[in-house]
Amino acid sequence: PMGICPETTMSLLKDNFTGVLRPWARPEVLTCTSWGAPIIWDGIFDPHVARQKAEQQNLTIGLTVFAVGRYLEKYLARFLETAEQHFMVGQRVVYYVFTERPDAVPGIALGPGRRLRVERVERERRWQDVSMARMRTLHAALGGRLGREASFVFCMDVDQYFRGTFGPEALAESVAQLHAWHYRWPLRLLPFERDERSAAALAPDEGDFYYHAAVFGGSVAALQRLTAHCARGLEQDRARGLEARWHDESHLNKFFWLHKPAKVLSPEYCWCPEIGPRAEIHRPRLLWAPKEYHLLRD
Ligand code: UDP
Ligand code: MN
Repeated sequence: PMGICPETTMSLLKDNFTGVLRPWARPEVLTCTSWGAPIIWDGIFDPHVARQKAEQQNLTIGLTVFAVGRYLEKYLARFLETAEQHFMVGQRVVYYVFTERPDAVPGIALGPGRRLRVERVERERRWQDVSMARMRTLHAALGGRLGREASFVFCMDVDQYFRGTFGPEALAESVAQLHAWHYRWPLRLLPFERDERSAAALAPDEGDFYYHAAVFGGSVAALQRLTAHCARGLEQDRARGLEARWHDESHLNKFFWLHKPAKVLSPEYCWCPEIGPRAEIHRPRLLWAPKEYHLLRD
């Protein structure tokens, strides 16, 4: 998708950081959705201004990550160490690590104003179930201490690491991530759930973008609605003996179709290096770690 945001739409943006966005700086990419949400590309904001504005608001930003089974040893230390270098530097941050083995969580040196909490979860047997159970667990956490201490929360996969600044320009009431493999694909080919019996189903003419469940975020209230919706859909499918094509991600895509995200992150925010260099990918923020599923999944 090409073209820049029409001025009329820009003036409708309900965004904390509208004052810092310069969508015309990236004329070769789509910087605004049809419903007026900004799509954040490198160069359309000034990271220093975004940081200053956020510091004035004195926010606490939560970052949740699950590290269950072998994902803990393989990915967690690098995820957290690079988050210390790049994620919301200068803000108050609280990491929430969900694992079945709290004792195995590596000790990471944290910067000032940053803390790490570890929450114990049951280990599901199938990797798909670990992934899907996140929605229910997150919903409970948002209704508890996480929801009380954070104003905004990002929920992320652990099999990735930070490579560039992931700052307050990414914050909004609800935030969705464009999927690196799919952002150039035509709508009808996007891998939404199509089985009408599933709660995650989208009809052939439905869908805006295909979003990646490895990164989503928003206010505590918005994420409570999102996680409740997805947990309910997953449960409903399970009761009918169904499992959506891409598990929790299918339900996330259904949610964002029904409730449009207030902000969309370009694929620069969660890039897959195996795709190779592309002209529009200037500065990746998160990079997918090598998958090596044969070592991780039984
Ligand atoms: N996960 C985990 N242990 C597992 C399976 C999944 O900790 O056995 C968590 C982990 O945070 C992981 C996320 O769930 O990043 C989603 O699973 P995965 O990354 O394997 O899915 P994919 O990115 O391949 O769709
Ligand atoms: Mn992943």
